Order: sequence, then structure tokens, then C-alpha cells
Amino acid sequence: MRSLLPKVAVIIPAAGSGERFGADVPKGLVQLVGRTLIEHAVSNMSPVATQIIVAAPSAYVNQIRTFFGDSVEVIAGGDTRTKSVKLALARVDEDIEYVLVHDAARSLASTELANRIIRELIKGEKAVIPVLHVSDTIKRVDKDGYVTKTYNRSKLRAVQTPQGFRATELLSAYRSAKQDGFLGTDTASCMEKYFPDVHTIAVPGEIQNVKITYPQDLVIAEHILGVRRYRD
Ligand code: C5P
Repeated sequence: MRSLLPKVAVIIPAAGSGERFGADVPKGLVQLVGRTLIEHAVSNMSPVATQIIVAAPSAYVNQIRTFFGDSVEVIAGGDTRTKSVKLALARVDEDIEYVLVHDAARSLASTELANRIIRELIKGEKAVIPVLHVSDTIKRVDKDGYVTKTYNRSKLRAVQTPQGFRATELLSAYRSAKQDGFLGTDTASCMEKYFPDVHTIAVPGEIQNVKITYPQDLVIAEHILGVRRYRD
């Protein structure tokens, strides 16, 4: 009998060096309230996942494997996020229906957000991204710092992860991306380029789903978790 629960693979790219964060370990291994960022992301996504694949910096694969045992596949990532995702996609089981592509750096994305994305996929959407309205005004500047364009903020959205896709289309898009050497800063942009007929739908993201990029973001994450101690 076919299970009623969809088969969902969650890919967690965590192979970045975290240069902007500036720690002495890759950013995914930075501690947030007694657990690494990777562990937070895995723990929040586990309830919806049939399969979890973490793309890790190659020198840390064995260490990260010890966090999870057999419940998570830890593989060596590539030198760009797109390549890390592609390497992980090659490990997705054949019977997987939907793939969520997340980021270790978005450790606080909730299980409820993942479920919101999956519900849209079950309804028939092929590409689903969580977004927030933009509260800052966004301008383009040239190399000398002069403003060349101001965008209409009401039409802009800031994009988060996890982003959800039907597995067949995502695998196919990444095969084309490999041939072209496509590099994107999110996964949906790969679908937009190679499957222009697939319309990506934007659903509400979460304010708590901050991307931990700079040390100050860790302070915000601690506040969100309610554990920040004010220091002198
Ligand atoms: O560099 P950026 O902040 O966009 O990275 C987003 C996510 O992609 C991070 O979780 C990072 O570890 C991951 N990444 C990766 N492989 C790379 C570069 C980034 O898995 N080569």
C-alpha cells in the first residue's frame, strides 16, 4: 500500500567556509546554544524528511557524520553552493517525490515552514519559495557608489530557504545547469532559467528565519531563541 506521507528529501548545503562570519571553523560548525548550526537545521527539518543529505566541507565530513549516525547522509560538498547542491542531488533516492533545498546558515527555519512548502507541492506546485516583503528601499549602485536605479519595493521579496521542488524537474534543471556551468545564489533561480514554464510560487517566510552570515546574526539568533544574556 502506498504511504500517505510524501517522500521528501531535504538537502542541507553546509560546505561554505564562512569567510564573512570569520570563525576558525566552517560556519556550519559554529555553536548556537550548545549545538552547531548544522544540527539545528537538521533537527528542524527531520520531522518532514524521508532522507536528509548534508553537503559538508570535505575536511569535516567524518566529524559531522558523528553528530547524526545513519539518520543523515553527509557528503563532501563542492566549491560553490550550486555544486554542493548538485552533488547532494546525485544522492537523492529514486522514489523521492519532492526535494527541499535548505541552508545550514538558516538554522532557525521551522518545521512548520517546511510543511507549508510541502503542502503547496502536494497541491501541484512544482517550485515553492518562502519570502518576506522587503522593508528597506533597494537601490542599484555602480562601481563608484553612485545610485543608478531605485526599485519599486512593493514588488520585491527577500527569499529564504527551504525551497521546495518536484524532484523530477529539479534533477533535470541541475543536469542542464551542469552543462552550462550555471551558478546561482539560490536553487529556484536554476529552475527559473532551465524551466521557464515552471512558475515558482512565493509563500510567506518567517522573520525568525535569519541567515546567519555575520557574527552579529548569531546574536540575533540567540535573541530569537530567548537565551541571549546581555553583556557589558
Ligand atoms: O555563501 P552563502 O551564504 O550563500 O551560502 C549559503 C549556504 O550554502 C551555506 O549554508 C553554505 O554552507 C552553503 N555552501 C555550500 N557549498 C559552498 C558554498 C556555500 O554548501 N561551496
